[in-house]
Amino acid sequence: MFSVAVDMLLTAVMVVTPTLLFIGFYRGLLAMRDDDLINQLMMHENVRPPENRAMARAMGLEQYYEDYTERHREPLLAPSDVRCRHCRAPNPDHVDYCATCLRRV
Ligand SMILES: [Zn+2]
Repeated sequence: MFSVAVDMLLTAVMVVTPTLLFIGFYRGLLAMRDDDLINQLMMHENVRPPENRAMARAMGLEQYYEDYTERHREPLLAPSDVRCRHCRAPNPDHVDYCATCLRRV
């Protein structure tokens, strides 16, 4: 009987201890997060936010992702480009065939 109680106690300790350590680790990481440093980094032109919106949201960097994609949006049509008359995709004006639909521009 005593042995069973000791086993159950040990099992409970072995389940609870890693959980508490993990929660402590996670909260420690949150406490060490330096928002001012993140702000400075994200304002730097050479620093890119996470690659996609879901990852940026998970990291709490969605606003930076939005700002970055807004700043680096491709121009819709360069002055030397022409639009394909079939699919409306932009193509350089020296090509005869559309790169998107492969029909004659
Ligand atoms: Zn086309």
